[in-house]
Amino acid sequence: MYLSTKGILAFVNELYSSKPTGKECDGMIYKVISKAEFKRFIDTLVLNNPSFGPRQVDSDIRGDAVYHFLPVTSFDDIAFDYTATASSAKHFFLPFREELSRFAFHGQDWNQHINYDTNPIVLIGLRPCDISALNILDDVLLNGHFPSPYYLGKRKNTFVIGMDHLPRPDCFCKSMNHHSVQTGFNLFCSDIGEEYYLSINSSKAFNFLKEFNTRDPHDEDNCRLVERRKLISNSFLSEVDVTALPSILDIEFDSPVWEKWGNKCLSCGTCAMVCPTCYCYSVEESFAIDLNGATRQKRLYSCNLVDFAVVAGGHNFRPKNGDRLKYRYYHQHRGFAENANQQICVGCNRCGRACLAGINPKDVINDLRMEKESCLTNVSLSPGRT
Ligand code: SF4
Ligand code: SF4
Repeated sequence: MYLSTKGILAFVNELYSSKPTGKECDGMIYKVISKAEFKRFIDTLVLNNPSFGPRQVDSDIRGDAVYHFLPVTSFDDIAFDYTATASSAKHFFLPFREELSRFAFHGQDWNQHINYDTNPIVLIGLRPCDISALNILDDVLLNGHFPSPYYLGKRKNTFVIGMDHLPRPDCFCKSMNHHSVQTGFNLFCSDIGEEYYLSINSSKAFNFLKEFNTRDPHDEDNCRLVERRKLISNSFLSEVDVTALPSILDIEFDSPVWEKWGNKCLSCGTCAMVCPTCYCYSVEESFAIDLNGATRQKRLYSCNLVDFAVVAGGHNFRPKNGDRLKYRYYHQHRGFAENANQQICVGCNRCGRACLAGINPKDVINDLRMEKESCLTNVSLSPGRT
């Protein structure tokens, strides 16, 4: 299948205009479903569609459960009470390795085959910050001058069911304002006791749910939803002050903080692999051994890897660990904030949990902020209002 840029943009428009019809509020329809009926809904959905949901695969050294998004074939396969998956859902849209094109050589001629086809899937149980991360990837990969048809094919063919949850102690998505989400999903479920409060955001979700018993929310349900949101908001134990962080990063470009954390960094790239919004990649071409064909592949990469800034001729623009670590933070919290008016980090702290060197955004950002605030002891403060 080949899509022109015009075709891609038409797809993008369709993706975002696929709204349900019926009683709406801001384009969203709200319903309530009993948990027993929700189980019937999920069982029917996963029976008829390739589906993925959180499943426990192991325990970590602290004894905490480790979850991944894996194939599910029934409601009971899904760990609805999971906290966060170790790796994010981005790999359904940005696989670690992806074939971009394939070449075949015939005598003096050659042809190129590009395949954007992708099978529809259902993703169940995404947390608000993970859906926000997809919205950020949409901004980068669909809303720029050159939308990615590879990403679009997968995004368009994925039915996303989001679910709210109480945060892990180290989640700081509230600080990043990603503890709730309004777009980027087909269906979002809020747990209000014996029932789920459903936010229906696509005609597909609306039509699926038509076959099941749902009802319009009553005042009491709305109150229970507000209570649930309050409970979630008040349950955050971690906070990161990101106020004016882009300008603090500007000021602290030469801060010793980068060397301090850079000296700990192992340059393993794990943080970028588990991060739901890191999308840097390299492109590689490999030839068939008989030289009759070749493939071009995209491979996710990390700006922390030693050779990330190596250019032709072998010069490395960022040979120091601290410089590479710094640029990752600058991309997350400075460069993207300037270009897209938001920081790219959603506050899931996957990078912090996965880092073997104990580096996490909360400590790095707090260090930078302390560095900035220490200068206040050396200057007279601005006069207050008189
Ligand atoms: S910050 Fe941690 S996870 Fe990231 S490259 Fe350095 S050691 Fe690896
Ligand atoms: S930088 Fe870390 S905390 Fe922020 S979105 Fe990526 S993995 Fe999550």
